[in-house]
Amino acid sequence: MLKFILAIIYFIIGTLLGSFCTLAVYRIPLKEDITHKRSFCPNCNHKLNFLDLIPVWSYIFLGGKCRYCKKPIRARYIILELLSGIAFMVFGLSFDIDLYNTQITDLIFILFGMIYLCVFEITAGIDFENKKFEKGVLNFELIITIIYMLYLCILGVNMYRYIIYFIIILGMFIFRRIKPSYTLDLITYLLLALVYIGTKTMFLTIIVTLFAIALKNIIDISNKQEKKYAIGGIFSVILIINLVIQNYSLI
Ligand SMILES: [Zn+2]
Repeated sequence: MLKFILAIIYFIIGTLLGSFCTLAVYRIPLKEDITHKRSFCPNCNHKLNFLDLIPVWSYIFLGGKCRYCKKPIRARYIILELLSGIAFMVFGLSFDIDLYNTQITDLIFILFGMIYLCVFEITAGIDFENKKFEKGVLNFELIITIIYMLYLCILGVNMYRYIIYFIIILGMFIFRRIKPSYTLDLITYLLLALVYIGTKTMFLTIIVTLFAIALKNIIDISNKQEKKYAIGGIFSVILIINLVIQNYSLI
């Protein structure tokens, strides 16, 4: 029963995060404020009230339409919120937290997981929509990574490996300033993610991503569309799946 309640809580947090990520994907490339400005309907510009903002439920409650102008809300939003809810529920449950005897280290690890899941979701969304990485998102990921490494240091983890990662990451940030490119952004993003998810998950993610891109190439070979893939987006989706299930697998 407790596990069920916990699952519901994780799911609700996940849908809220998903809702925030959808908003961030839309606003960050437009250089709009993501925390202080109220949400509005993209069609009639009417400001949304609190009830309109509850993820998933508002969509069902309003019948998939804007309350004010009755224009259908894109189904993409509810799908992303639901997926986010499920991802976070599976991720949270993998920690097998005992409500009466909670380990604070587990809670902090879940908190970091939440933040990283958001970063991956936002990166995926922006890359699928615009085929690029946003500087602000990478900078945010850098800050989170520094905080995470400080936390590991406090826990007494051997930092040798992390210091090497960090030097390479700083090098990438300098390179990106000199010669900005999608590839450099992608490598920087992967290195930052590596600090949190570890080498095994990263290795698996890279292999599956390469496989997915190869497969996409084979499928796309017949129709000669522009050959530009949202590699960061594909990578992020696989990264999310691997991160969510990594505590269950024994590899
Ligand atoms: Zn509207």
